[in-house]
Amino acid sequence: MINIALDGPSGSGKSTIAKALSNKLGILYLDTGAMYRACALKAHYLGIDCKNEEQVNSIIDLIDIKVKYQDGTQHTYLDGNDVSKEIRQNEISMKASDISAHKKIREKLVSLQREIAQNTDCVLDGRDIGTFVLPFAKFKFYITASVEERTNRRYKELIERGQTVDYDTLKAEIEKRDYNDSHREIAPLRQADDAILLDTSFMTPDEVINTVLSYVNK
Ligand code: C5P
Repeated sequence: MINIALDGPSGSGKSTIAKALSNKLGILYLDTGAMYRACALKAHYLGIDCKNEEQVNSIIDLIDIKVKYQDGTQHTYLDGNDVSKEIRQNEISMKASDISAHKKIREKLVSLQREIAQNTDCVLDGRDIGTFVLPFAKFKFYITASVEERTNRRYKELIERGQTVDYDTLKAEIEKRDYNDSHREIAPLRQADDAILLDTSFMTPDEVINTVLSYVNK
């Protein structure tokens, strides 16, 4: 099985690279962040505080998440409904970061991710793929970029989707998520010892993709 792990902070370009790799190599792309976002959406609908572990634990068994592929694109389903668009709302980003800190949520999603990766050649993007979900993945990359560059990218993406965002607020949110994700107790965001580090601040998407491919095709 070929598993490619792409980890790194928000807005580092992981999903663009993962999509391109999946197309070029003809393998599946599993966006693990979408799964945490779907959990946060469920909590949001139920009025649950994503920071409150007890409240979050009380809904674990009610969370029904499935990942399906249509024309090679991942669709994330919550309770049988395709929520691929809803989970991209900016307010869900912070809630996803909050909910992802809890042990039971991570256990539930990690076992789903391992199940998919064990049976399929795939590229996975997330925060803990190389360090925790698939420590024996064949290829591991840690993709990062300066916080300014990551904010610029996310800002552009949200504006293009028609969402209204304030640049400085977005930057503060990204910094807060970086802090949350790298300081949580369970499977925090960090570069795996055997991951290849790529700082994409001054690289075009094509340059990053070609660099990753040059390692994978070796
Ligand atoms: O990648 P994305 O920004 O969609 O992820 C949303 C949130 O889900 C992240 O901020 C992070 O807290 C959480 N996440 C995680 N582990 C992963 C993927 C995402 O904790 N493997």
